[in-house]
Amino acid sequence: MTTATLSLSELTAAATEAAKVTAAASDAERAGWLNAVADALDANAAELVEIADSETSLGAARLTGEVARTTGQLRLFARVITEGSYLEAVIDHADPSATPPKPDLRRILRPIGPVAVFSASNFPFAFSVAGGDTASALAVGCPVIVKAHSGHLRLSERTAEIVAEALRSAGAPEGIFALVSGREQGTALVQDPAIKAVGFTGSIPGGRALFDLATSRPEPIPFYGELGSLNPVVITGAALAERSGQLAAGLAASFTMGAGQFCTKPGLVFIPAGTSFAADLAEATKDKPAAGMLTDRIAEAYPDGLRSVASLPDVAVVSGTVDQDAGANGAAPVVFSTSAANVLQRPDELLEECFGPTTLLIEYSGPEELSQVLAKVPGSLTATVHAQPDEDVSALVDQLTGLAGRVLFDGWPTGVAVNWAQQHGGPYPATTSLFTSVGATAVRRFQRPVAYQDAPEAVLHPALREGNPLGIPRRVDGELVLR
Ligand code: NAP
Repeated sequence: MTTATLSLSELTAAATEAAKVTAAASDAERAGWLNAVADALDANAAELVEIADSETSLGAARLTGEVARTTGQLRLFARVITEGSYLEAVIDHADPSATPPKPDLRRILRPIGPVAVFSASNFPFAFSVAGGDTASALAVGCPVIVKAHSGHLRLSERTAEIVAEALRSAGAPEGIFALVSGREQGTALVQDPAIKAVGFTGSIPGGRALFDLATSRPEPIPFYGELGSLNPVVITGAALAERSGQLAAGLAASFTMGAGQFCTKPGLVFIPAGTSFAADLAEATKDKPAAGMLTDRIAEAYPDGLRSVASLPDVAVVSGTVDQDAGANGAAPVVFSTSAANVLQRPDELLEECFGPTTLLIEYSGPEELSQVLAKVPGSLTATVHAQPDEDVSALVDQLTGLAGRVLFDGWPTGVAVNWAQQHGGPYPATTSLFTSVGATAVRRFQRPVAYQDAPEAVLHPALREGNPLGIPRRVDGELVLR
């Protein structure tokens, strides 16, 4: 199934054939495939972590946790499809006496077809070869061709071997899964007529280039890209008065975690002017060590990003140094500060993601200026509020709801739970779609609604048959029927 000897067109042709089998397979069969992949990854975790550590510098502890998260994710999707509400089965019985008469209509979500998945650099397991995009596409019956990330090629190949063998042993069809590498192959994959959707995690320029390719094809296809996110945090004066030191410690841990290479890193922190928070944060950050970065490309970009922020007027370095060689010595944390007025003057330069252990404090004079400057912040995956329990933050929460997919209270955005309610997505450039790439409803990206009108029972998917043979939740004549 990872047939390196096959050409791209042979791989996509095989995926098209496999799609017929995967679409017809039962939920129980596909759940079995996902569980088999999870078991195989767990069984080979030690070897995989060793390869991943040698390629990414992320450390064995973090990587071991990430394997567990990845296999937990595969098993969650197995439960999601077994539960059945992911099909969104809806039945409206015919009503010949209505004016005009109503036909029998039955709607369900069907697999979209073969999916291309672009692995992320920063999550070599959870957002890569066997990560959330792959798991959610396979779950709903879509074959997957993964474009390996150049930052962890050996790991990608070994993971793909394990995934392919597990799928084969569990009875999945040939062509359900393959791996390709190199930019040329990735670009061709997005343009291949057999591919019906793309999942992507990476940079704004890379994601945008591929998004434009996907949408300008003769047959445009959905491109589910997770591109860039600043993850604003707002701290009120009352919260700072109560627990400035504790907030500084929490922020320092969050923005330096994984050398700041998280899509949910808090990159902008809004605080009232005239507090001692910057000093508290400098104190909390001073002992955080430099850490190796994922790839040479990312290590080169980090000091460039720092220097461009530092070169702007009215920006102060609160902690750390801008002149560093992140490739040779690892990336060291840097905290900047500026005023909301300065951000309002030059939003494009100051509101740009800098991948690495850095964050920008933005001092606001009051709620009105805070609201004005938040209005300039681009779409984000997360937005966070730190306030006191007796403060009315409802207007602030309304504004943050408009700019992020997940709004947090008294916490830090790094760390994304994989469960039924998760929303990991947000307005552009956080994502190029309305969907989440993490959690149960991530499957929705790879499903296409179809309604059957006056269809004979024999041709209907079992989920739409009168007796509900699958025993799944459905909406029948407007009422939710659980079983
Ligand atoms: P990237 O450069 O966008 O690469 C992601 C994938 O897209 C890789 O497979 C890459 O191929 C491919 N690619 C990139 N540019 C392309 C183009 N013009 N045409 C065709 N394919 C292209 O992202 P990255 O390497 O992961 O990290 C670089 C930056 O991305 C970071 O500095 C950070 O700013 C951002 N990032 C953001 C997130 C997030 O979740 N928000 C996550 C990770 C990274 P190759 O691997 O073959 O080069």
